[in-house]
Amino acid sequence: MRYLSRFSFKLSLCAALFTLSAALLVGVVFPAVLRRALGNSKQAILTDLSAAIRRDLAENGAFSPLEEGFPSALRVVVTGPDLSVSVDTSRSDSLIGKTLLLPGTEAALSGETVYSFDYEGAQFVWNHLASYDGGSGPALVYLRYSDPQTARIYQNAGAAAALIGLLALLPPLGFLIGQIVLFARTANRLSAGTERFAAGIYSSPVGLSGHDELSYCGRMLDDFAVRQARTEELRRRFVSDASHELKTPLAAVKLLSESILFTPDISPEDTRDFLTDINNEIDRLTRICSRLLQISKYDASAAAVGAARVDMRSVAEDVCRMLDLPAADAGLVIRRELQEGCYAASNYDLMYQIFFNLIENAVKYGKDGSEVRVYLFSRDGTIHFIVDDDGEGIPEADIRRIFDRFYRVDRARARTTGGTGLGLAIVDAAVRSLNGSISAENRTPHGARFTVLLPAVEPAEPPAKGGGRP
Ligand code: ADP
Repeated sequence: MRYLSRFSFKLSLCAALFTLSAALLVGVVFPAVLRRALGNSKQAILTDLSAAIRRDLAENGAFSPLEEGFPSALRVVVTGPDLSVSVDTSRSDSLIGKTLLLPGTEAALSGETVYSFDYEGAQFVWNHLASYDGGSGPALVYLRYSDPQTARIYQNAGAAAALIGLLALLPPLGFLIGQIVLFARTANRLSAGTERFAAGIYSSPVGLSGHDELSYCGRMLDDFAVRQARTEELRRRFVSDASHELKTPLAAVKLLSESILFTPDISPEDTRDFLTDINNEIDRLTRICSRLLQISKYDASAAAVGAARVDMRSVAEDVCRMLDLPAADAGLVIRRELQEGCYAASNYDLMYQIFFNLIENAVKYGKDGSEVRVYLFSRDGTIHFIVDDDGEGIPEADIRRIFDRFYRVDRARARTTGGTGLGLAIVDAAVRSLNGSISAENRTPHGARFTVLLPAVEPAEPPAKGGGRP
């Protein structure tokens, strides 16, 4: 029913058209067909009768009346070769002595049979005109059969059919008008909504709840508006965050350089310290810019990544090896359980970036003297990459925004650790460009877990057993 109602406008239009055709059939076609059938009904009788009369006239110069006499409805008119009427069975308006001139006379004289059917003076009339050999030339036999009763029945049947047709037409017509009104109202709301969205106003949705085609379009448009509003919001936030993030190091550079310029008799040591700070700020700016560029590259499309079959185990192993030393410096050990045969459609650098950012964070935010655990395994066609640490975890209120650009839980601390708040945003964009997903959660009793899920691709050879699950 729901499926049918999705096409309600089309269906009601079809139903209305169907009923309209049925009404036309009953009201117009049926009377026309009936009339045609009535018209043809007397042709055979009149033709036979005329043939018999003409034969008699040609052979005997006179014709014998029918056995039971001529019915009053039938009139027989016979002319001589000069077309003057010699016999007329009608008593009321006899044509005897008059010249018979009828439509079709010429055709009849040239040997054709002229048959016609008409409605005259509240009665049906069948006419038959044909010639016979009148001695000195062709003469005419004209038969005219009139029937007021059939005409009356036909008239009544026609009127009834027209009435039935009209009555049958009323409900679909009302229904169609209702549908058109509804359609116009829905179309108005849809176009008003489209105008609002085109003007960038996403706060008032089209709000169509029906199941017809236009309401369906309206709901699609509302979904689109919600997504667009979110994108706009993210864009606005991104622009303000990005300008803020860029402004801070720029202000520091300005302040430091002014200190060098405008401090009289500044010592070479102070100058060196200020220049070192300027250099650090410039490094930070460079880091932000290159990370932003990375995100926009991953945002562009998955195709831009240049996907190939990547052995994720060997990438994870490379990243762990690279971070073993900084981890040791922080008093941590990176323990890995990496299953062989985990392949994803990606490229080495992109996968490296994802693994590096997550494991580096775990080292950065992990607890001194504990371990960071890295798991890689494949299950049901999905590659699971999990990084666990035993640090403080992420405050519940921040988990939702952790993948937003420039989002840092502790901004003050992030500045000292050199964090830009872009590492997880890069991972998120990269994972999404590979049609995967990433999630963050807190572990019990403490610590954070980041899980990346990616579609697995078939390894070239069957995978060896190994690796583990958390
Ligand atoms: P940053 O460059 O500042 O580390 P990220 O995007 O990588 O930026 O991380 C964003 C924020 O998420 C960090 O400021 C940090 O507070 C939090 N975070 C990331 N990883 C972890 C983790 N393993 N444990 C706890 N907090 C984390």
